[in-house]
Amino acid sequence: VDFKSDKQPTWCPGCGDFGTMNGMMKALAETGNSPDDTFVVAGIGCSGKIGTYMHSYALHGVHGRALPVGIGVKMANPELEVMVAGGDGDGYSIGAGHFVHAVRRNVDMTYVVMDNRIYGLTKGQASPTSREDFETSTSPDGTNMPPVNPLALAFASGATFIAQSFSSDSKRHAEIVRKAVEHDGFGYVNVYSPCVTFNDVDTYDYFRDALVDLKEEDYDPTSREEAKEVILSGDKEYQGVIYQNEDSVPFEQQEGIDEPMNTVPDGAPDGATDLVREFY
Ligand code: SF4
Repeated sequence: VDFKSDKQPTWCPGCGDFGTMNGMMKALAETGNSPDDTFVVAGIGCSGKIGTYMHSYALHGVHGRALPVGIGVKMANPELEVMVAGGDGDGYSIGAGHFVHAVRRNVDMTYVVMDNRIYGLTKGQASPTSREDFETSTSPDGTNMPPVNPLALAFASGATFIAQSFSSDSKRHAEIVRKAVEHDGFGYVNVYSPCVTFNDVDTYDYFRDALVDLKEEDYDPTSREEAKEVILSGDKEYQGVIYQNEDSVPFEQQEGIDEPMNTVPDGAPDGATDLVREFY
C-alpha cells in the first residue's frame, strides 16, 4: 500500500521529518490500513505539511489545534484510522491544553510529534522542548527555563500509551508507531526528529550517542513504576514503548458513549439531532 503522495516535500535535505513520515506510512501499511480509510490531521509548522506529502484523507489545521480536529473526525466516523501529526512548538506550546485533554479523553487515534526542540518554519526560535542553555534568536543567553517534559505531561494526564522514537532509526521508529496505531486508545509517540538547519545541539550524532533503547525483553511498559522512573530520569534519551495500559478502553467504546458525538443529549428541542447530523 502506498501512502506517499506525488507531492515533493519542501523540507530541508536531511530533515528528520522525512524519516518520521516514512515510519508513519510504514506503520499504517503494516496495520492493514489503506489511504481510503486513513485521515491525517496536522497543525502548523514544518511538521504541518505532512498531510500534503501523504496519500490519504488529510486536513491541514491551524496552529496547535490539530488534536481537537482529529478527535472530531474520529467521533464523526469511528471507522477511520486517524493519525494526528505535529511539532514540539505546535503541540507543547499553543497546543499544550489540547494535548492534555486529548490524552485524558483517550480516543482511539495516534498522535505523532516531530520533536526537534526548535521552531523550524519560523526560522529558529526556542521551543517548549529547547534546552535551558540553548542560544537562539529569541533566547540569546539561553531560555532560563527548564524544557517541557511532554512524556511527564502525558503520564500525569492519564495517558494509556506513551512512546518515544528516533526518526533515523527507521525500523525501530516504524515498529513503535505501529504499536501506537494498534493500541486501543490514544497512542502518543514523541519522535526525536532533528532540525538540521536551526538546531546544532540536538543533532543526529547527539541522539545516536545518547539514545537508550528500552528493549521489550528488558523492560516492562505495563509497570507504572518503571515508566515513572524512565520519564522522570531527566538525563537520558529513551526510545521504545515507555508506558502502556493494556486495559485501556477507548473513549468512544466506553459505556454510555455508544453514539457518535454528533448527537445532542436527551431532552433537546425536537429536530435538533437532525440539525446537528446535517451540519456534520
Ligand atoms: Fe526540517 Fe528544520 Fe528545515 Fe524545518 S527548518 S524542514 S524542521 S530542517
